[in-house]
Parts: sequence; structure tokens; C-alpha cells
Amino acid sequence: MASRVAEKKLKVRRMLVLLTRMYGRRTWTSRGPGLDVLVEAMLAQNTNMANARRGYAMLRRRFSSWTKVMNAQVADVQREITICGLARMRAHRLQDLLRTVKRQRGRLSLDFLADEPPADATAYLTAFHGIGPKTAAVTLLFAFDAAVLPVDNGILRVARRLRLVRPKARDAEAERVLSPLVAEGRHYATHTLMFRHAKERCRPRNPKCHECALLEMCPWGRRVVKHKPPEREGDVESGRRGRRPILLLAKHASAGIAKRAEAE
Ligand code: SF4
Repeated sequence: MASRVAEKKLKVRRMLVLLTRMYGRRTWTSRGPGLDVLVEAMLAQNTNMANARRGYAMLRRRFSSWTKVMNAQVADVQREITICGLARMRAHRLQDLLRTVKRQRGRLSLDFLADEPPADATAYLTAFHGIGPKTAAVTLLFAFDAAVLPVDNGILRVARRLRLVRPKARDAEAERVLSPLVAEGRHYATHTLMFRHAKERCRPRNPKCHECALLEMCPWGRRVVKHKPPEREGDVESGRRGRRPILLLAKHASAGIAKRAEAE
């Protein structure tokens, strides 16, 4: 068991080296105070980042402090975050959070979490209604550079394909497994590089395995490459006579292989 963990740690370290070569070095910079980052992460639940950012910006423009948000009429808070959806529920949860932090800590700040072990900080945040492991991990990583790895769908896909986690692992399990595998101080770089890789190359369909530096360590990618010739830009869309049926056949064949590989 211990040697399997050591092997996976080496694999994660190698992955980080290769991803850095592909996309460049990443250095952590604070996204702001913990409470600010947490509120934005809460607003991003069940909506896209653009809406979350707009809702957050409108809230901050309307209220100059978290104390004012806490003491406002719930309808006034709700109005500013309407764009995020489920605004009344979010407004109630936000005010409950602020009141609880104030009561427990005497001030509206989460700075004390910077000194807590990641497991304790996660337990504190997830005890609030509506804060799950991913929201907690995003807050701890982006505000405090904590040793946690938030896992979204894209990062989960990369981790499954590289066999860093079980093929059927969900995001919470993947986060529990992956966070201790990442070297101290490298969680931010690992998260942001895996996020970018999932968007640019390790896509759900037609991943660009032929041009992926991780191919040497990726069982899923090696199976894809074995059964699918490199896709040339424009071939599928151009529909040139004589080429299109072959490429479409290859595409469907590889999709079947990919599905079986993911299900293993
Ligand atoms: S080789 Fe393919 S499946 Fe594997 S990580 Fe790279 S893009 Fe993803």
C-alpha cells in the first residue's frame, strides 16, 4: 500500500513537470481575503463563473462591508445577486454564514483558517449549510495556498484517465485521494495546470492525445492513440470527398474504445 502511494506521488510529480512544460509555470497569488473568496465561490455554485463574478461585483458595489451585508434586509441582498439564480436561498445562506462567523470569531474574517491544518479548515467550512468540499477547497487554495486540490469535472477526467484515482471515483473522493499526493506548495500549480489541460487537450470527446506530453504515462491516451490516427485540422469539418467517411469511422470507433476504457 505504502509503495503504491509512493508510486502515485512520483506520477503526480512527473505530471506536474510535463504540464509545466506544456503550459508554463504557475505561481500562487492570493485572490483576496478568505471571506471574499468564499462568498464568490458560494455564488459560483450551480451557475457559471461569469454570472458569479457579476453577482459578486454588484453585491460589493452595493454594500461597502460584510457587516452591511449581514445587517441588510434579505430582499436587498437578494436583489444584488439575482443574476446567480436561487437568489433568495443564497441571500439567506450568506447572511447566516456572516452571523455565525461573527458570533463565533468576534469579527467577520476567516483569516484564522490560514493557521489551521487543511482537514480542520475544511471541516469548519463544510459545517455551514450549503458549503461542500469543493467550495471549501477552492476557498482554502485561492485565499491561503492550503494543501488542498479542488476537483471539478475536468480535473476528475484527467485524474481518471491517468489512473490517479478509481475510474468511478467522484469529485469528493478524488480530492481526498489527490490532495496528499501533491508535494507541499504545489497544489495551486497542479490545480490550475490540470484545469487548463482538461480544457485544451484532455477534452471529454476527441482528446488531443497525439500532442499530449502526458501520453507516456497515460493508459487511456495510449489506447486512444493505438486505435485512432492523428486528426488533421479541418479534415472532419471540410468534408472533402474520399476522406470524410474514413475519419468519421475512426472517430466513432475511438469513441467506443474511449467509453469502454473509462468504464473499466
Ligand atoms: S494522453 Fe490523452 S487522455 Fe491522457 S492526459 Fe493526455 S489528452 Fe488526456
